Amino acid sequence: MSGCSGCDTQPAGAKELMPIEQALDRLLAAAPIKDEAVRVKLEDALGLILAEDQLSAVDVPPADNSAMDGYAVNLANLKSAGLKLPVVQRIPAGAVPQPLANNGAARIFTGAEVPEGADAVVMQEECQLVGDEVVFPENVILGQNIRPLGDDIKKGELIVSAGAKLTPQLLSLIASVGIAEVPVVKPLRVAILSTGDELVEPGNVLGPGQIYNSNRFALAGLVKSLGMEVLDLGIVADTREATERALRQAAEQADCIVTTGGVSVGEEDHVKPVVEMLGQLHLWKISIKPGKPLAFGEVLGTPIIGLPGNPVSAFVTFVLLGRPFLLKCQGATEIYPREMLVIADFEVTKKSNRQQYLRARVRNSDQGESLVTVYDNQSSGVMSSTCWADGFAIVPPGHTIKRGEKVAYIAYAELLN
Ligand code: AMP
Ligand code: MG
Repeated sequence: MSGCSGCDTQPAGAKELMPIEQALDRLLAAAPIKDEAVRVKLEDALGLILAEDQLSAVDVPPADNSAMDGYAVNLANLKSAGLKLPVVQRIPAGAVPQPLANNGAARIFTGAEVPEGADAVVMQEECQLVGDEVVFPENVILGQNIRPLGDDIKKGELIVSAGAKLTPQLLSLIASVGIAEVPVVKPLRVAILSTGDELVEPGNVLGPGQIYNSNRFALAGLVKSLGMEVLDLGIVADTREATERALRQAAEQADCIVTTGGVSVGEEDHVKPVVEMLGQLHLWKISIKPGKPLAFGEVLGTPIIGLPGNPVSAFVTFVLLGRPFLLKCQGATEIYPREMLVIADFEVTKKSNRQQYLRARVRNSDQGESLVTVYDNQSSGVMSSTCWADGFAIVPPGHTIKRGEKVAYIAYAELLN
């Protein structure tokens, strides 16, 4: 990454916290977009970012076809024959129909091509077989139960734009026009590092002063759920040497680096000085709670995001700032989570100078309104709050919340993929 335009106006001092929107704008402006594409089979493309627009070479469906099991008729003929016609043709799905004879109806099945001359399909439940004739109801309408050629997609149409994240629905749409392989942006390789002398991996016995490394699992999962590759460099000791060694390795082997812990300014916090030594640092104090310190910069040309160490802070800052940054680097076009307004079923009486992202849950009231409640313990060390929640209720800086008031809410569904 070559520098960061706009990063030099970093607010001085801890008192000036940067609003999250501004921090995000700066991160996104500095995101180096990966332009390496690879072709993958559709079966391997889930969750990846499409590198080129996809156009359809065919109409979908390719011909008029029946939406029902029933009988295909010509409406004018049906009327002149007094709503009674013999069956003159049988058309299962996959068969090639003959033109419909004037004096007859065609037995037809769902998905089968409608024969030339037929202009309506009557579902079998509405018909009666009397001898070898079918008796039809009176209310048959022109075109009923016929899915017309090109109803879904027209030949030449743009079906998916470059930058789309390939969902199961999009893969189905692409398959429906016969495309078997797509160009995707090569998945980013994201190095993750957990800093802290107190950390041990789960599975070991805790010694005095130690805690388990839990951030690593949140980060690896979050990165993988973005369709990216994880390079897990494990625990990094709180020394300048270990931090330098780990960051050099990460910069060499990965497209982006995400660390947790060690981004404050205590003498045990080594991420900041090592980034400054190996590259550039734009440390932001962001006006969010949980969160606040977020180191962003580059190490030997590789972007680095240093998240705070508290597990909830790491989770919140990753999904709100790290995720959009990585998605932008990956070439994705949809990177902003959508907010919705819901009704507070909680109160906040104490104002904060930072924007709060309360771990929250939405449910319907008996009146059908969307009510949001928040987890009892909003401490940034309480990971249980993020597991209980299905999203964040947002309290703007300097605000209180009264029960019944409308508040903004972001669902995890907007943040965890
Ligand atoms: P730091 O940002 O390094 O000052 O860490 C802040 C808090 O988060 C401390 O209580 C750390 O023990 C804790 N912490 C840091 N890294 C991790 C981790 N990987 N897993 C769990 N807790 C962590
Ligand atoms: Mg630490």
